[in-house]
Amino acid sequence: MTYSLVQLTYVVATALFVFALHWMNAPATARRGVYAGVIGMALAVAATWARPEVVHHLWMVVAVILAFAVGIPLSRVPLTAVPQRTALSHAFGGLAAGLVGTAKFYLWYGEGSAELTAFRTTAIILEVLLGFLTFTGSLMAAGKLQEVKWIPQRPVTYPGQNVTNIGLMVVAAGLGVAIVLHPAAAWAPVAFGGIVAMSLAFGVLLIIPIGGADMPTVIAILNSYAGLAAVAMGFVLDNKLLITAGALDGSSGLILAIIMCKAMNRSFTNVMFGAFGQVQQAAAGGEAREYKAETVEGASQVLEQANLVVIIPGYGMAVAQAQHKVRELYDQLKKRGVTVKFAIHPVAGRMPGHMNVLLAEADIPYTDLVEMDEINSDMPQADVALVVGANDVVNPAARSDKGSPIYGMPIIDADRARTVFAIKRSKNPGFAGIDNELYFSDRTWMLFGDAKNVIGELVKQMSGGSGMH
Ligand code: NAP
Repeated sequence: MTYSLVQLTYVVATALFVFALHWMNAPATARRGVYAGVIGMALAVAATWARPEVVHHLWMVVAVILAFAVGIPLSRVPLTAVPQRTALSHAFGGLAAGLVGTAKFYLWYGEGSAELTAFRTTAIILEVLLGFLTFTGSLMAAGKLQEVKWIPQRPVTYPGQNVTNIGLMVVAAGLGVAIVLHPAAAWAPVAFGGIVAMSLAFGVLLIIPIGGADMPTVIAILNSYAGLAAVAMGFVLDNKLLITAGALDGSSGLILAIIMCKAMNRSFTNVMFGAFGQVQQAAAGGEAREYKAETVEGASQVLEQANLVVIIPGYGMAVAQAQHKVRELYDQLKKRGVTVKFAIHPVAGRMPGHMNVLLAEADIPYTDLVEMDEINSDMPQADVALVVGANDVVNPAARSDKGSPIYGMPIIDADRARTVFAIKRSKNPGFAGIDNELYFSDRTWMLFGDAKNVIGELVKQMSGGSGMH
């Protein structure tokens, strides 16, 4: 393939990546976005393979087979495990960048260092630093989310932690500067090895003080590091597609992390250095209060007589895979002329868009999914707020309790509805590990049980009931 044809294909692939990100903005076009991304990546691999300098085709075949062998099982994980799956993808991206940078450095050093210009060497050092720290950092993040036994969930902190981390980075950067200035020095390969080791260690040290609760945000940040490593790799390999794709990856990761921080009312530095999740034990110690439980029969009568029902899904709906039953309940209520809306909190569940994906899977019309800001003004008019496995995102402590770890996080005002039915299995707290005032409110009735079973019972009650009228 000629040089210009390869470059043209790269431009088309870049455009497809841009469209992919744009289409993924809305549920209605998200599927198209995924296809655009897949086609863009296939074109990128094909055009690179066709470059005249690629002579070892067997290695390419091995790489493609390996990619399929790892990628296909990874694509089959349940939706609830997608955050850790994503972290694993970033780990592979970081490892690839780190290995390519390392190989290029030692190859060019062996050839007499003429190729190691200041610009290229700087790019290699950045690539290796970011690549390897993304590798170990993402593995740690995935391990924390998967609750791997030997990785502590709680933040691990010790005195002087930030100073140690920053000190390590300064030493690594200092070695990097020395190599850029003297790429042909006899000590350069050893110093380079030192940078690799420190980057690997830094990834682990960066993640251990961060609690499991903040991992999804950290994963978005690591996503942007992986993107930046790819940009540096693009400069090293003189590959424009890697530069543009890496920049898109890096900036979208950063934007996502910022959106998530805003939705939790946390600052970036607070996520990275705040050791969130440490104080949770103290909050559970309050006096034991009573929940009011309701029966399925009673709840279905109230639901049937409502004008407006707002369903607020959360992580529990994902765990129970209750979305299809929720759809049946939606149909039953609609049949009775009840207006049903879904209130979507930006961080409900465990990843952005989690609820949208589940509800779309159950074919619930997008027009009935309402964002938090918009639905909150309707909440006082709602006859029933039906909370399906959500907890933190409806906790009024976020509005009123200055001492609460979630204080300031915007919530869905379920407590302002006339009646609240809350479905969960037990009295256990949610992700942030804190009690929820909503469940003790005069207006709230608990429907204890697995979300899929409880909603299934509600539907059964209603479909049986409708025959009798
Ligand atoms: P949550 O606070 O984690 O609460 C989920 C509730 O679902 C739990 O209280 C649990 O209670 C219940 N549950 C679990 N399995 C269930 C089942 N099978 N049937 C019925 N109920 C079940 O969830 P959330 O309200 O969706 O809030 C999300 C949390 O994740 C927030 O704290 C948010 O900051 C955090 N987070 C989200 C993202 C994101 O991108 N979405 C990113 C980072 C952090 P039981 O155990 O009693 O059943």
